[in-house]
Amino acid sequence: MAVSSEKGKGMTANANTQQEIKAYTVIRSRRRTVALQVREDGSVIVRAPDRLSGSVIEAFVSEKQDWIRRQKEICLERSKNRLCVSSEQRRQGMERAGEVIARRTAYFADVMGVDYGRITIREQKTRWGSCSSAGNLNFNWKLILLSPEVLDYVVVHELAHRREMNHSDAFWRIVEQVLPDYRKRRKLLREVYL
Ligand SMILES: [Zn+2]
Repeated sequence: MAVSSEKGKGMTANANTQQEIKAYTVIRSRRRTVALQVREDGSVIVRAPDRLSGSVIEAFVSEKQDWIRRQKEICLERSKNRLCVSSEQRRQGMERAGEVIARRTAYFADVMGVDYGRITIREQKTRWGSCSSAGNLNFNWKLILLSPEVLDYVVVHELAHRREMNHSDAFWRIVEQVLPDYRKRRKLLREVYL
């Protein structure tokens, strides 16, 4: 089970950007409904049924202007919070992350009375950590760029999966036993975008 980088909360539409959004890509398929998507780079995708007319699609996009605008703002905001690093920072960070995470994992595994397999440090685009059913742990090296309390939360979260391979109440109780303030730490983590 993984700790993912969560979606951001909505922001209010900016009154300065009220011109209509007309640039979008239509992807047609055998689907039955129309769906809108704003990609990470802010581009707009419309998924539409094969035979739906262009004017209906245009009207649909026109009707969803506010929503599109809000999504574009979220993308912009997210790109500001994204962790950007140089290749040298990455090299050093991965090394340090390997040491620190191995130490914290050993410490908390002992506290929690669980075992684990291999620890792999990676650069994943959407995940902070994961735990396989065999007990192998993956951690994102960028955890080392965050505060130690957040890093510890991810370590404890993954180790708690050695007891519960889900996010049930029982799982969160295990996390809470070790980190009574885990909610605060989880909130801090959700504010960072990979
Ligand atoms: Zn999980």
